[in-house]
Amino acid sequence: LAQLFRPLDMLGMVYRTIRQGLTDMADMFRLIDTDIEVRDAPGAPALVVRRPTLTFDNVVFGYERDRTILSGLSFEVPAGNQVAIVGPSGAGKSTIARLVFRFYDPWSGRILIDGQDIAQVTQASLRAHIGIVPQDSVLFNDTIGYNIAYGRDGATQADVEQAARDAALMDLIGRLPAGFETEVGERGLKLSGGEKQRVAIARTLVKNPPILLLDEATSALDTRTEQDVLATLHRVSSGRTSLSIAHRLSTIADADTILVLNAGQLAEAGTHNELLRRDGLYAEMWARQAEAVEELGEAAE
Ligand code: ATP
Repeated sequence: LAQLFRPLDMLGMVYRTIRQGLTDMADMFRLIDTDIEVRDAPGAPALVVRRPTLTFDNVVFGYERDRTILSGLSFEVPAGNQVAIVGPSGAGKSTIARLVFRFYDPWSGRILIDGQDIAQVTQASLRAHIGIVPQDSVLFNDTIGYNIAYGRDGATQADVEQAARDAALMDLIGRLPAGFETEVGERGLKLSGGEKQRVAIARTLVKNPPILLLDEATSALDTRTEQDVLATLHRVSSGRTSLSIAHRLSTIADADTILVLNAGQLAEAGTHNELLRRDGLYAEMWARQAEAVEELGEAAE
C-alpha cells in the first residue's frame, strides 16, 4: 500500500511546487499566457545553497530569435549583499529577474547560484530558495492568515505570527474584526496597496528564502506608506542575497551596489555616491528624477 501512495505523495508535492511557483510568477510577471519552455535536465540534482552568491556570466538572451535583450551581461551579487538594478524603461531589468527564477534559459552564458548553474538543477529546488516580493501582490479570497501561511507548506500559526510581526502587520491585524481569521481579497476585506505588499513580505518571510528578488516599484503607494514598506523591505533583506529592480532611484540609494543597465548591457556599477561622482547615465537619471519630484511639488502648491 505504501508503494501505491508514494507516487501520490510525489504528485502532491509536484502539484504544490508548481502551484507555488506559478503563483509567485503570476504575481510578479503576469505570465499567465506565456508558454513555459524550461525543463529539468534528466537526473538534475537539487540546488544546494550555503553562501548564495548570484552570478551572471556573459548571459545573452532575447524573447524572440532576432531581438537580443541582454547582450553578454556579467555581474555578481555577493552572498548577503543588496544589489539594485536601474535603467531606462525596457532596458531588461525585469528580464534579469525572470531569468534568475528560470522562467527562461539564456541563449548562451550561465547564471550561477553558489557556483551551480541554475539550468542544471531542479526548478523546484531553485525556486524553493528564492523569494519574490512583487510590486502588486495577488491575495487569495481566504483569510489573511492563509495568505501569509501560503509562503510555505506546513507553516505553523507561530510562524505566521512571527512573519506578520516582522512585516509590520500586527497593527493592521489587531484592527481586523476577526484578526488572522479575517477574510481578505476581492470577496473579503479590501486591503490597501501598502498592506497587500506587507502581506507579500510576510508570505516571503514564512518561506525564509536565502535569495530575494524585489520589485521595488512602489509608485502605487503614497510617500508615507512607501517609506514604511521600504523600511520593512530593507530590514527583511538584511543577511540575504537580494536583487532589487528599482523603477525609482530614491528607493535604492543605500544598496551595496547599483547596476545601471542600458540596452541590455551593464553601463555602470557602483555605490550611489560613486555613480554620482562618475557623472554618467546614473547621475543624469538622478538629476532628471530630482527635477520631476520638484515639479510635482510645485504643482501641488
Ligand atoms: P520597465 O522599467 O519598463 O519595467 P524593464 O527594464 O524591466 O522595463 P523588461 O521588462 O526586462 O524591461 O523588457 C525588456 C525588453 O523585452 C522590452 O523591450 C520588452 O518589450 C521586451 N519583452 C519583455 N517581455 C517580453 C516577452 N514576453 N516577449 C517579447 N518581448 C518581451
